[in-house]
Amino acid sequence: MEHSNFIRTIIEEDLKTGKHDHIITRFPPEPNGFLHLGHARSIIMNYTLAKAFGGTFHLRFDDTNPIKEDATFIEAIKNDIEWLGCPWDDLLFASDYFDTMYEKACLLIEKGLAYVDEQSADVIRETRGTLKEPGLKSPYRDRPNAESLALFQAMKAGDFKDGEKVLRAKIDMASPNMNMRDPVLYRIQHAHHHRTKDAWCIYPMYDFAHPLEDAIEGITHSLCTLEFEDHRPIYDWVVRECEMESVPRQIEFGKLKIANEISGKRFINTLVADGVVDDYADPRLVTLSGLRKKGVPVAAIHRFIHSLGLPKSEGETSLQMLEEEIRSELSSAPRIHLVKEPLRVTITNYPSEGEILTQAADQDETLVRDIPFSAQIYIEKDDFVLEKPNKKWKRLALGIEVRLMHAYFIKAESVVTDEAGNIIEIKATYDVRTKSGTDFNERKPNGTIHFVDAKQGVPVTYMEYNPLLIENADRSQPIDAILNSDSMKSYSAIVEPAALTLPGSYFQAIRSSYVRRDEANVFHRVVALRSSFKRS
Ligand code: ATP
Ligand code: MG
Repeated sequence: MEHSNFIRTIIEEDLKTGKHDHIITRFPPEPNGFLHLGHARSIIMNYTLAKAFGGTFHLRFDDTNPIKEDATFIEAIKNDIEWLGCPWDDLLFASDYFDTMYEKACLLIEKGLAYVDEQSADVIRETRGTLKEPGLKSPYRDRPNAESLALFQAMKAGDFKDGEKVLRAKIDMASPNMNMRDPVLYRIQHAHHHRTKDAWCIYPMYDFAHPLEDAIEGITHSLCTLEFEDHRPIYDWVVRECEMESVPRQIEFGKLKIANEISGKRFINTLVADGVVDDYADPRLVTLSGLRKKGVPVAAIHRFIHSLGLPKSEGETSLQMLEEEIRSELSSAPRIHLVKEPLRVTITNYPSEGEILTQAADQDETLVRDIPFSAQIYIEKDDFVLEKPNKKWKRLALGIEVRLMHAYFIKAESVVTDEAGNIIEIKATYDVRTKSGTDFNERKPNGTIHFVDAKQGVPVTYMEYNPLLIENADRSQPIDAILNSDSMKSYSAIVEPAALTLPGSYFQAIRSSYVRRDEANVFHRVVALRSSFKRS
């Protein structure tokens, strides 16, 4: 299951050469939203790479930006990672390193490698230059170290307002790498932090904080996504110039992007805030909590992630690949009859007392279920038409005979309609000789459909989920214009009694889908049986 990948090869090499004897990786989420399928790549890879070599896996919250962060996200993220089955060895918070980070910033100032700038954020941005032109040096760049140090201490003491001053690295305003043009290391933010409360009013920037966090923890291989490739020089610079004992190696891999699906924490946050979806755990979202709510088995997510490996480039992946893994994961789930949008059938020549048919519920025939049958049954509304439309129609129609799965052949004779002309019942007849299991071969039925006994069947809700966005949605359009109005559908359904008593919560609803039964006996479609499944 754990395929080889380029990072695994690097780690193997580092162990072989003795560069490391203990591997430490980490997953470093910012607690500013919920995790999605993309994050599963990072979590699973960091976890399995550490564990494959007897190493340690950290969960570290990158809580350096108090304004966007919320403690409720922390609990949700922990919950998701536990669910994924990637337990962390150590739970850590970047905010616990604020003292060390501050000391390291002072060290940089003393070494003449950082200075307090008094220009506004706008001016700093405008003077960064372009890819073709070097940036402009700040007039404060060459102020004495002692002056910068005093100002930095005053920043920490709360003597200035937000944005009045920043601490910048002094590197190279002409560097071809924009991230090396005196990046901001600290900013003033008079904000309450969920853990450090009001102890700090200066907060470190990502490019300064992240490498220090990794180095402090002794992370050996710091995996991140490709957009940080250009940040690697500043990462290495910070570790080196801050004289960190342990030197982590940043390695980039391609983000997992799902075609036509909304991921990105910020975007998901807006969908929730705008009420487009119920909450973060909406089963139509590719958040881990949404996938869990829908019933996606964790093992399928692992297989999906491992099957894609760790590409060095970014491409879009179809959600169908995950669906294939879900199908193979659930392929041996017990089979049940679930009749969606039930239509009553009265078998006029069947005796008034019913009978019990028994059937295996699973492939190994270890689970046996009783299937009640009587003169009143339900079939799916879509399994009947008045007139057989064409040769491909392998279901019921007036004058047509079909096999009821595990039971008898029935023939539709007439229909009962309500005042509006809707069909509310089918009158049918059966042939006692056609009982399933007997070798009746006088004639062939026009297909096989499933049913549920009317008296003993149990009414339930069946939920169907479809993509949130219309196909090939143009993302530049307002969200309302690209929403799929059929993304979540609730149907009335009826299930055979065994569907509520069989062990486990996953079933194959015959001819339709793999479903998950929840605590309230709602049946959720996890995935259709086949991707382009068309009943014929
Ligand atoms: P988003 O891009 O969805 O807003 P993020 O990158 O802001 O997410 P973080 O909390 O910063 O989320 O990410 C935590 C870790 O997850 C980082 O190491 C990041 O590289 C990784 N990660 C985020 N998105 C993906 C993805 N689509 N595929 C793989 N790894 C990802
Ligand atoms: Mg981020």
